[in-house]
Amino acid sequence: MSERTIAAIATPLGEGGISVIRISGDNAIDVAEKCFCTFSGEKLSNLGGYQAAYGKVVDNEKEALDDAVALVFRAPKSYTGENVVEISCHGGTVVARQVLRRVLECGATLATGGEFTKRAFLNGKLDLTKAESVMGLISARSDAAAKISRGAREGRISRDTEDILNKLLETAASLAAFADYPDEDIPNLNEENFAKLLDECYAKCEKLISTYDAGRIIREGINCAIVGKPNVGKSTLMNMLCGSDRSIVTNIAGTTRDVVETTVNVGDITLNLADTAGIHETDDTVEQFGVDRAKQKIDNAELLLAVFDSSLPLDDDDKKLLCSIRDKKCIVVLNKTDLTPVLNKNELNEFEIIEISAKSGSGYNTLCSAINHICKTAMLSPDDTILINERQRDCVNRALNAVSAARDALNMGMTLDAVGVCVDDAIAALLELTGKRVTNEVCDEIFKRFCVGK
Ligand code: GDP
Repeated sequence: MSERTIAAIATPLGEGGISVIRISGDNAIDVAEKCFCTFSGEKLSNLGGYQAAYGKVVDNEKEALDDAVALVFRAPKSYTGENVVEISCHGGTVVARQVLRRVLECGATLATGGEFTKRAFLNGKLDLTKAESVMGLISARSDAAAKISRGAREGRISRDTEDILNKLLETAASLAAFADYPDEDIPNLNEENFAKLLDECYAKCEKLISTYDAGRIIREGINCAIVGKPNVGKSTLMNMLCGSDRSIVTNIAGTTRDVVETTVNVGDITLNLADTAGIHETDDTVEQFGVDRAKQKIDNAELLLAVFDSSLPLDDDDKKLLCSIRDKKCIVVLNKTDLTPVLNKNELNEFEIIEISAKSGSGYNTLCSAINHICKTAMLSPDDTILINERQRDCVNRALNAVSAARDALNMGMTLDAVGVCVDDAIAALLELTGKRVTNEVCDEIFKRFCVGK
């Protein structure tokens, strides 16, 4: 256990029903007892774990600061694994700060960002992947994003990693035994069996990495720009996706002179959506500024919705746009399908085309499915284990490369020692993933991104 008893406000600062001040450490109950008097007269130190008492938080003159409930957790059965007291007082910034100040006066020190969760990790309550999932849960912006973090919180990544680790450890032990007793006829100890185990590990690492990009899009959203020449219906499409009049719609070309940005949920994905000024040749300086910004958005976007008016033939501006988006992840949106079709779809053969009428809203579901499909989020199954940050992906990727090197070494007939070195590298990468073997620097780096109070 750590010597410092720490405290912080665990709920967001703002007006609300209650605020919770969390205290954790050896002396948490003593600290709370100095500033919290129960109405029943029972001492907090007499309460067992998971017991609560109603009372008041008092200042050093025994004047009441607020009525509150103190909930006691006894080590190791608490979030941090230490003694913990959570004081639930009235919500709002002033009261919560007063209570925290009083708790600090009574002997606690202010917790740093993520310190509660870091203690939970150091006390063996969580592995690193579960600890990281806590931050994912707090910052989730959609049901699907929360679900991914919940999966990690429940131990999906830990279980899959454990599974691969066990296989690698088995391989490492067998390699060592085989190297020591090459002439013994020990069952299952042969190169064919090593290769089989390594293949299984490779496939499992590959599977874990394969869902990462789609998972990232679900968690963080995707930067998506709506592009096209003026008047094709970009702003109307933006409004259709938002379900509100976010962009101004007129039939005067060039109305959207700058980029209009908003966030919308489409199926499982959050689109960080930008409606750009139409891209076309212009002599108007202000309009040119918007066109330049639109081009910048195209460069930075991870997904483009390129809009064309299906009631008109493709012109030079349309063709220039098509050339500039050829190598991008993009969906061609043929708008105004309520009008007589004129545009020749054969000229768009190489693109994925979705037909809509942004004005009437028809084609909305097809467009949403196409977005989920192109981002590969539609391919995710509810049972998939999804890595939740770049650190995790990097660890699994290193394990994958090391397993691949081990397979190559085996195939090339190199010594079993050489194969063993690669297997050890893979094991080290996975131990770093779950935090069983991790440096203090990496650990500090992970927890400093957490908010104070978590
Ligand atoms: P932007 O300049 O590309 O943003 O185009 P707007 O969204 O401002 O639309 C230009 C004009 O096209 C407006 O008069 C819209 O009402 C009209 N418009 C947009 N979508 C449709 C559609 O699906 N069908 C029809 N008939 N008109 C549309």
